[in-house]
Amino acid sequence: MKRLLTLAVIVSIGLITVVAQSRRPAGTEHTGKAFRFNKVREGVYHAVGTGNLAVVGNSSFIVNDNDVIVVDDHVSPAAATVLLDEFREVTNKPVTTVINTHFHFDHAHGNQIFDQSRVDIIGHEYTRQMLLSNSIGMPLYKNYLTGLPGQIDDLKKRLATESDATTQAMLERQIKVAENNLASQRELKPTPPNITLKDRMTLYRGSREIQIRYLGRGHTAGDVVVFLPNEKVVMTGDFLTAGMSNLSDSYPDEWVKSLDELKKLDFDVVLPGHGEAFTDKAKIGYWQDYLRDAWTEVSRLKREGVSAEDASKRADMTKHAAHLPINGPGVALIGVQRMYDLIDQRAK
Ligand SMILES: [Zn+2]
Repeated sequence: MKRLLTLAVIVSIGLITVVAQSRRPAGTEHTGKAFRFNKVREGVYHAVGTGNLAVVGNSSFIVNDNDVIVVDDHVSPAAATVLLDEFREVTNKPVTTVINTHFHFDHAHGNQIFDQSRVDIIGHEYTRQMLLSNSIGMPLYKNYLTGLPGQIDDLKKRLATESDATTQAMLERQIKVAENNLASQRELKPTPPNITLKDRMTLYRGSREIQIRYLGRGHTAGDVVVFLPNEKVVMTGDFLTAGMSNLSDSYPDEWVKSLDELKKLDFDVVLPGHGEAFTDKAKIGYWQDYLRDAWTEVSRLKREGVSAEDASKRADMTKHAAHLPINGPGVALIGVQRMYDLIDQRAK
């Protein structure tokens, strides 16, 4: 991990004092633990945020005989720094490798804290291309970043009118978490993988085999899953989450087919990029059904000349509510806009 060390040497009569100050990224202050490390297999951990720090998604760790591999490194340099700090309670072995499941900010914006003379950052070549070019100009991150000051203002307004002490304390904590996150976003320097793959790469660590697999376009054009065939564990990022995945950079129709490729892998546990680990493989089919229906329904509304805004409200996915967190009709506008763009491009 890259640490900027400022050394000030103070020399006085017969006394040399070395004052070392470690400059951490802004926004790393927090109270209480920021992560739970859920052990799913010997040496395999799913890192889930507790809410004391803005992390947005999950990471995973693979602890080998001599090193540690991190899968996804969070929403900010601050979150990645705290993630590594807290994981030192599990092991002191060095992190040699980071794998980005895809380019999205909540999975790859910790990359910059790693010293690339010692740490390989691996991702799909599309992930590198996006982090080198316009990842922070994409709607998903732009919406997220521009929304942060407003969220902080809203929390402050609620705090000003709140009289219950417990709720006040909760709001104060949420304000601090959001302010820390905003401070860390201002230090962001998108950092691409320094090793890329197109279809597949396998790392060997002692008896452990770590497969990095691209299964086709889906959540983005360059998602990879990390598959441990001996442990029967797969880390899926946002290609398959415990609930809904955002569609802002997706290819919904192709995603359905790519998920068929995931079904062919022999695993028992999924460590998703959002939500808790799960064993129910039927979730793959639930998400395929949703994608198929969303694509069909939004395409139909577009053919009828309905605006993306109206289609976002009208596309009715409530029949999937038994298996997915859906409260009423509608598909997120950012996803509908993406589908409209895809249809227009393909129609050319
Ligand atoms: Zn994502």
